[in-house]
Amino acid sequence: MINMSLATAIHHSRHASAPADHAGHIRQIETVHDLFAGRYEAVTTVGETFTDAVLGIGVAEGVDGEIIHVDGVTWRIPADGVPERAPADLGMPFAVAAYGGTPIIRDIPSGATMTEITTIVDGVLAEENLHHDYLVAAVRVTGDFSHVLLRSEHGQTPPYQPLGSPGSVTGEVRFDLAPWTGTLAGFRFPDVADDIVIPGLHLHAIARDHDSGGHCHELTVDQAHVQVWIDDVEVDVPGLPAAA
Ligand SMILES: [Zn+2]
Repeated sequence: MINMSLATAIHHSRHASAPADHAGHIRQIETVHDLFAGRYEAVTTVGETFTDAVLGIGVAEGVDGEIIHVDGVTWRIPADGVPERAPADLGMPFAVAAYGGTPIIRDIPSGATMTEITTIVDGVLAEENLHHDYLVAAVRVTGDFSHVLLRSEHGQTPPYQPLGSPGSVTGEVRFDLAPWTGTLAGFRFPDVADDIVIPGLHLHAIARDHDSGGHCHELTVDQAHVQVWIDDVEVDVPGLPAAA
């Protein structure tokens, strides 16, 4: 089911006031509904989705690792927590990527958590007369962190077990790292809980030394900055007509 809230957001971001000098483009492959329904078969590949991307996040086929694309390299972080370079032919059931655009940069105060970073991103949007419930922003956070809580999950083989609902991940493995230095990349989605996007700030992480990474549950900033791309968004559901 395509929920109208994001359809409205897509319409807004495509046709309304996203400023041309920041204009980029975000593409999401597959809906969250299908992901949480246990559809973990690949619908795209790392090469197809990330070759030209500024940044991106995803999950590997069979939920066999978290995916982050940043600085021209795609990493897969499997359940052992050790990142590997993801080959171009690696399949993904779900991915979101940002292309082009010019980021707006803000410092993040020491001690900030995901909540404060979300507030900073929303402030950037507000300065552009945009509201976070009506578009998707691409976000990159780079720096030193006094603590991060990351996760991956054990891969599955068919028949796949549905995740059930956002947050209740089967086979989750957590990595509690302190201190940690690296980059987090992802998206500030609308807060609306629909079947298309995962609401709120969704970041994946890769350490500067490439020794750790994963989906970010929690972080505490030591010193870092955030880059925000105010972008156009398109949801591409393979096998269905375009969502907007
Ligand atoms: Zn994630």
